[in-house]
Amino acid sequence: VVTIGILALQGAFAEHQVILKKLPMGGHKIKIELVRVPDDLQRCDALIIPGGESTTIALLARLAGLLEPLRDFIRRQRPVWGTCAGAILLSERAEGTKKGGQELLGGVNISIARNGWGSQIESFEAPLLSDDLKEADRPFTGVFIRAPVILSVSPTPEHPIQIISRLPADHLPRTGDPALEEEDDTDPRDPRTIVALRQGRHMVTTFHPELTNDNRFHEYFLRECVLPSLRQ
Ligand code: GLN
Repeated sequence: VVTIGILALQGAFAEHQVILKKLPMGGHKIKIELVRVPDDLQRCDALIIPGGESTTIALLARLAGLLEPLRDFIRRQRPVWGTCAGAILLSERAEGTKKGGQELLGGVNISIARNGWGSQIESFEAPLLSDDLKEADRPFTGVFIRAPVILSVSPTPEHPIQIISRLPADHLPRTGDPALEEEDDTDPRDPRTIVALRQGRHMVTTFHPELTNDNRFHEYFLRECVLPSLRQ
């Protein structure tokens, strides 16, 4: 039995639960644990941190005594996937917070801007392609809701970062930010186009795969992060 925890303090945890329940597990039995207190986390082989409001999730995690247990879980290289607000929490640095910062869990060597696509376009959808997904030719509908923007990635030789998917150049949202809107010459390697990546067993998506009927990112997390960690 594989126990996958979903941090259930605030945000879209129920939607992740619905997808996980339907996921084909290739012979493994999956148990879902909604994580609200440290004891819940102890039972988990892996964890999903959902979208929501990263400041609220961090505050509630502190109140629940979960911040240090979560950091420890990450340090021990347990598989962890953060979607949207969860991606912010897994970043080493978050910029653009009004009060000059917020509590993060860290674990993935990226810096990120909260609400980085600007207020005019709080939400948008984009067709995402990835060679790492099953049926790689079929675009995955990325749902971005006041999504963060990845500003920089800092892999190290021991901890490389694998880019899983980027926004297509013709779908970069208009943000009012001149730097992002020199559309004709947006460098395809610009970190701001990255929307899904993995560093070891830690994965980050800036969109909400739990809000679509497509389970391929959940399948990827299971296949590439969770199952390999059980074989050790
Ligand atoms: N803007 C939110 C934050 O800063 C993230 C939005 C989301 O998870 N959909 O935490």
